[in-house]
Amino acid sequence: MTATSFIGYSRGVHNGPLSHATNPATGEVMEPGFASPSADEVESAVQLAAAAFPAYRQLTAATRADFMRTIASEIETSIDAIWTRGTAETGLPEARLRGETARTVGQLRLFAAMLDDGSWLDARIEHAQPDRTPLPKPDLRSMLRPVGPVVVFCASNFPMAYSVAGGDTASALATGCPVIVKAHSSHPGVAEIVAAAVIRAAQQCGMPEGVFSLLYGSGRDVGMTLVKHPQIKAVGFTGSRAGGRALMDAAAARPEPIPVYAEMSSINPVVMLPEILAEKAPALAEGFFQSLTMGVGQFCTNPGLLFLPEGSESAFLEKLTSLIHDAAPGVMLNAGICQAYLDATNATVAHEGVEKIASEKIPAPGQGAPVVFRCNAATFLQNPTLTHEMFGPASLIVTGTWEQITAAANSLEGQLTASLHGTTNDLAAAAALMEILERKAGRIVFNGFPTGVDVSHSMVHGGPYPSTSDGRSTSVGTMAAYRFCRPVAWQNAPQEQLPDELKDANPLRIARMIDGKRCDP
Ligand code: NAP
Repeated sequence: MTATSFIGYSRGVHNGPLSHATNPATGEVMEPGFASPSADEVESAVQLAAAAFPAYRQLTAATRADFMRTIASEIETSIDAIWTRGTAETGLPEARLRGETARTVGQLRLFAAMLDDGSWLDARIEHAQPDRTPLPKPDLRSMLRPVGPVVVFCASNFPMAYSVAGGDTASALATGCPVIVKAHSSHPGVAEIVAAAVIRAAQQCGMPEGVFSLLYGSGRDVGMTLVKHPQIKAVGFTGSRAGGRALMDAAAARPEPIPVYAEMSSINPVVMLPEILAEKAPALAEGFFQSLTMGVGQFCTNPGLLFLPEGSESAFLEKLTSLIHDAAPGVMLNAGICQAYLDATNATVAHEGVEKIASEKIPAPGQGAPVVFRCNAATFLQNPTLTHEMFGPASLIVTGTWEQITAAANSLEGQLTASLHGTTNDLAAAAALMEILERKAGRIVFNGFPTGVDVSHSMVHGGPYPSTSDGRSTSVGTMAAYRFCRPVAWQNAPQEQLPDELKDANPLRIARMIDGKRCDP
């Protein structure tokens, strides 16, 4: 490994502060040390991205699609290096690293297919009506265009799918935006392997230098410099509420404010209704336990809050308690996340009226053990801090009357997901709750659990603040591309001045809206 930043097609040479990954399973400090870029190197990466933008945005959709597919293929050639280094850096098992890599290349190819189709551009044509009264109507045509260089912060909990060539990078590159990635200090080696694959693909496809760079270094230094740089036009982030908020505030305070798409904190409420609890409480407990403990609970969609109607809960709690007692702790992603998990669970149990159901197995250093807390709805409603995310395999069960549960749901902050378990009768009786959940969450799951986010055209992985910084967007699926575009209209433009997508002849044969009607090619 070279262990320096990727500045366009060159590697950083700065010998400044080195940062080492730590194997969370063993505590071993891993070699090599990764060098923070100098201020000049950060500036070079930004200038290269800015210089690449005019050329990159003008490439045909087919050329960008080819680039995306080549990145996917190059990542696949590195799979053994990815999982070998990745398991050591993150404590995640080989199967997870392989699965996440498959998801990462799958989403790159999905964005390539979106580019082939072309309808995502929302191309609209309205012909002129010179005879319209009282005013003539001009010829107006519009479509989405890329915003400019985008900074992407890698996530600690998804070393592949939300990192170097993950969803944020794929959606920005697809739209025509160059990307500068800020690597996460937890998995710098995986970052180097994936960045090298992206650079190989860029060179093979003849992309302008600067279409992609990757920088090591700290968030507060390198990350903030990037977010404040006038050439940067948008930011993608997954991580803590404090980190996301700091970036949002810095971006808003710039002379030219820019959007930050931060995915931050969500406790993903689950509600189980009385009739279904009477029918299959043990199976529901098993499903909830699997969702809670998957990946040692380190998913943004982890079910951190469960509402159970009073009087229907005993069989469910009995089964869940036995599962939790027998559950094994697991290695967490890094020491900081493990400590934050301990602090968060200690803070929850410190509330009067909260009791704890915990694993009987003692976690080793670096491990997190599954734990479930329980309180009544009155306690929950009186203590807003009980809604804070406990990032790990922990959840709070709240029991109460139907009115209390509805009030508690109404008191929640914005969420990525909300899940409802109910029979047809249960769901019919829960219309008021459903209306509340739709206002609170980006995705409503029926008779299922929130973990497992399909990468597809209709997926919404977003939600009102603080689950994300902008609830009008998603960070997963092809709708994620809209974050990095803006609409542009051409008025009375001669045919030869129009992008191909808006020409009368429709040379790219894409679906468009013409004079208010959707038209297939
Ligand atoms: P993080 O601390 O927010 O860090 C994520 C990235 O943002 C890192 O590159 C970090 O740089 C940078 N950063 C953080 N604070 C910053 C600031 N004030 N200014 C500029 N850059 C900043 O998240 P994390 O390391 O992944 O995990 C920490 C905690 O975040 C977890 O314990 C968990 O509570 C939460 N988390 C939540 C989710 C979720 O999906 N809900 C996912 C991951 C983490 P440095 O590495 O240099 O600090």
